[in-house]
Amino acid sequence: MSTNHFKPITTLREPIELASHGLVPVSDLPDLERVAARYAVAVTPDVAALIDPDDPHDPIARQYIPSAEELVTQANERADPIGDDAHSPVSGIVHRYPDRVLFKLVHVCAVYCRFCFRREMVGPGKATTLSKGAYENALAYIRAHSEVWEVILTGGDPLMLSPRRLKEIMADISRIDHVKIIRIHTRVPVAEPARINREMIAALKVRGATTWVALHANHAREFTRTARTACAAFVDAGIPMVSQSVLLRGVNDDPAVLEALMRCFVECRIKPYYLHHGDLAPGTSHLRTTLERGQEIMAALHGRVSGLCQPDYVIDIPGGHGKAPAGPTFLEPVNSFSAEREQPAERRYRIVDYCGDVHLYPPEP
Ligand code: SF4
Repeated sequence: MSTNHFKPITTLREPIELASHGLVPVSDLPDLERVAARYAVAVTPDVAALIDPDDPHDPIARQYIPSAEELVTQANERADPIGDDAHSPVSGIVHRYPDRVLFKLVHVCAVYCRFCFRREMVGPGKATTLSKGAYENALAYIRAHSEVWEVILTGGDPLMLSPRRLKEIMADISRIDHVKIIRIHTRVPVAEPARINREMIAALKVRGATTWVALHANHAREFTRTARTACAAFVDAGIPMVSQSVLLRGVNDDPAVLEALMRCFVECRIKPYYLHHGDLAPGTSHLRTTLERGQEIMAALHGRVSGLCQPDYVIDIPGGHGKAPAGPTFLEPVNSFSAEREQPAERRYRIVDYCGDVHLYPPEP
């Protein structure tokens, strides 16, 4: 890989800016203007510096640099692939599972991921922050639902808010007695690590609720020295972290690449949590793998790294039906049996070990 010494001073938002920094060919500009008119574009200086412009398959570029392939929307793709709208009782809140809600505070991000499942909703051209009235309504909804134990701040990226505003929001939520956990989903520590400063960390620590941070990253190269320092700032301050990644064709759909990513998380004291199967967001089919490939990769990962490094491979069921584990399974019954006639001793399973070898359970006497 050739080293890219280029680092723009500001975030690149227009295809012409990407072209002038050598990140896209000038000949692609007409198509990319059409892409950018529909889906937001932003590449921070930190991310731009990671891209090797000489590599047409660069896994960082593939996550953030727009492509003409995004102009192709498949029949099964949808604007709201995981069905947020079907579970939104008031503006800014998604209440899909009984004990937790999403609280969508902002619609802007440091970078815009080309596979984003909320790509129709995020970006500077979309609604920005919640109005004061909508924010108060959302808080009132959480207050009125005593079953809500966890509030998940998402968006957009909540860490795009100022520390002053975040401090107010964290205080407002933590004053609700039944809310015990506030989880913040963010890409900022890898996309714009300088935002994570002492003030930001202090804003996230509150009395009355435990703060967790879920870091979204998809490739080991995103863990630069500054990104690792940003992650350490959370954990050193007593804020536990979990990971969130998306399985992406040409980015991390390879056991060795995924292994390196998971090791980075764990080295940074971030517990691997979810590996999402790519959602059916419009114009993203070129980035999705098959479920079978995802299961193969997860089975291979099982053989390569300890449980500390294992995320759950999950799929969000279109229509708002929530997440389901997407496998693989390592256990299958050998014989069929009926609940009425069955003797427990007759139950036998095939079980696959970490090398892929198959065994019987229980073993032959
Ligand atoms: S940071 Fe999250 S919300 Fe923003 S574009 Fe990326 S995936 Fe979408």
